[in-house]
Amino acid sequence: MKIAFFSAKPYEKDFFNHALPDFQHEINYLEVKLDTHTANFAAGAEAVCVFVNDIVNAAVLTQLAAQGVKLIALRCAGYNNVDLKAAAQHGIAVVRVPAYSPYSVAEHTIALILTLNRKTHRAYNRVRENNFSLDGLLGFDLHGKTVGLIGLGKIGLATAQILKGFGCKVLGYDVQTTAEAVAVGVEFTTFDALLQQSDIVSLHCPLNPHTKYLINEQAIGKMKNGVMLINTSRGGLIDTKAVIQGLKSKKIAYLGLDVYEEEGDLFFEDLSTEVIADDTFTRLLTFPNVLITGHQAFFTQNAMQSIAQTTLQNIRSFEQGELRNQV
Ligand code: NAD
Repeated sequence: MKIAFFSAKPYEKDFFNHALPDFQHEINYLEVKLDTHTANFAAGAEAVCVFVNDIVNAAVLTQLAAQGVKLIALRCAGYNNVDLKAAAQHGIAVVRVPAYSPYSVAEHTIALILTLNRKTHRAYNRVRENNFSLDGLLGFDLHGKTVGLIGLGKIGLATAQILKGFGCKVLGYDVQTTAEAVAVGVEFTTFDALLQQSDIVSLHCPLNPHTKYLINEQAIGKMKNGVMLINTSRGGLIDTKAVIQGLKSKKIAYLGLDVYEEEGDLFFEDLSTEVIADDTFTRLLTFPNVLITGHQAFFTQNAMQSIAQTTLQNIRSFEQGELRNQV
């Protein structure tokens, strides 16, 4: 099948080209992000392959349908960037990679927690300048701390397993209780109780109309003073302006983000010689207790191999008349 592959990065081409000989597909790698200005580049393709910040709204889907596109193949798990109703109206199927490596994101979550706590990013720079002072590097034992996980699906569960190994008490809030999480030792509770009791709050639920700004001024008000907040899920789960107020009031003592609500104009690009116009993002960067990575939690060899294999198989299945991993 002919595939228009938007937002293509060199590292993605490596993994997809490696997996390609097992399939009969033809990939047209396009560096541009999918939006209304670029949708016409899909001409001649039946499948469009997109990532987290490609825009797949009603207007884009109308353009894609007019060109004969029949399938949107997401090479990620989240699908909040796709207007599913509009896709259905145009008869365009949407498939995704529901699970590739929950460990990749869970382990990055732990990396953010440990780095914020023990300040290894600051220590690294200091030692390279022969500054061996410990001032400002004081951390805390993770052992015995209470960590609240919001969303106990695949990634939340993998995160809980690691945290139990550290000797943490793990609280969980989810719209459904799973026996698997209970078996790991997660204590399910209410949203409010989790916020009130947790030293660290970490988000692992999807972004949808029910979870948009789940962490807002009211939610932050219920958290412990000095809480650590981690988001490796989707930026829109957090009202960033409310979080900035929480940082200024010192209610939030540590913030670790791999995602940001307006990341579409920033992440995955080298903007080191550009002026960043997003004042909210640049304000976040001024806090010494904020650590931001550019949506890299998924980015391990294992995850990339699995993403390439599953995406190409999803497209092959569609070609054979079967919908695999449909959203
Ligand atoms: P999953 O579907 O296995 O789990 C999601 C869990 O969230 C489910 O248990 C679900 O019941 C729960 N949930 C749904 N609505 C909720 C709500 N209102 N409140 C609390 N819980 C709710 O998904 P997953 O594979 O664990 O991925 C979780 C999220 O991580 C994805 O939606 C995606 O946005 C994000 N993600 C980020 C990266 C990254 O690189 N940063 C990579 C992959 C996934």
